[in-house]
Amino acid sequence: MAIQRFLPYMTWPDVKAIDKTNALVVLPVGATEQHGHHLPLYTDTLISSGVLELAMERLEDEVPAYRLSPITISKSNEHRGFPGTLWIGAKTLYDVLFDIGRSVHESGFRKLCFFNGHGGNIGILHAVTRDLRDEFGMTMFAGSAGTFMDEVTLPEGVDPREKTMGIHANFTETAIIKALTPDLVKEDKAKPCFPDYPETGIGLVGKGYGQWKTEDWSSTGVLGDPTHVTDEIAAEILENSVSGTVRFIKEMVAYEYAKPTIEDGL
Ligand SMILES: [Zn+2]
Repeated sequence: MAIQRFLPYMTWPDVKAIDKTNALVVLPVGATEQHGHHLPLYTDTLISSGVLELAMERLEDEVPAYRLSPITISKSNEHRGFPGTLWIGAKTLYDVLFDIGRSVHESGFRKLCFFNGHGGNIGILHAVTRDLRDEFGMTMFAGSAGTFMDEVTLPEGVDPREKTMGIHANFTETAIIKALTPDLVKEDKAKPCFPDYPETGIGLVGKGYGQWKTEDWSSTGVLGDPTHVTDEIAAEILENSVSGTVRFIKEMVAYEYAKPTIEDGL
């Protein structure tokens, strides 16, 4: 029998008995937010927790990695105005993640990854992983199902702007949801949306960052091209993200900080 990797299914003595030297805990960070007319609100939660679960099933028994139940509501205020979007603010999300990190540390673990499904969380993840590293000396990671993904070749017919501007309810998200939970995809409602981003060098793909909300760019909630997703491509993209996540987990388990060389002779 494969080892139990879902921490909430263990007893506390089971957790106590884990060799924590390199053991990694991974928390999926999902969302409940609009994903256009064709994908469920739960898309980012399904992707982060689904890909992680499949990746963990493939690990050899000697790889010490454990997963937690996902956070299902996070910082989605850019999707306000679309019914069904639920969100917590930046400060609340920071506090939730910091407190989870502290209790993972209190349980004896030294390595923790926030496995993110929602782009709107990235700024907070950078700040809180740094602070947990600083406060508790933990080895902290943030990444996603796409972190170690190989480049995806888009099929004929998909708008080429998807490559750089497809960020939400787009081709890749539609493919992974179609592969994981096909009944939740309303394919006949999948339509591309690429607004006329200003060509000033500021914006989604410019050198400067102009802050935005989804309603600034899209009336459907889609930012990208979610069409032409066949069963074969969906399976291929899911496999790409699962095998990439297996690599990512192994890299994190093996990860060590390089000791700085002593140059000042002290
Ligand atoms: Zn999403």
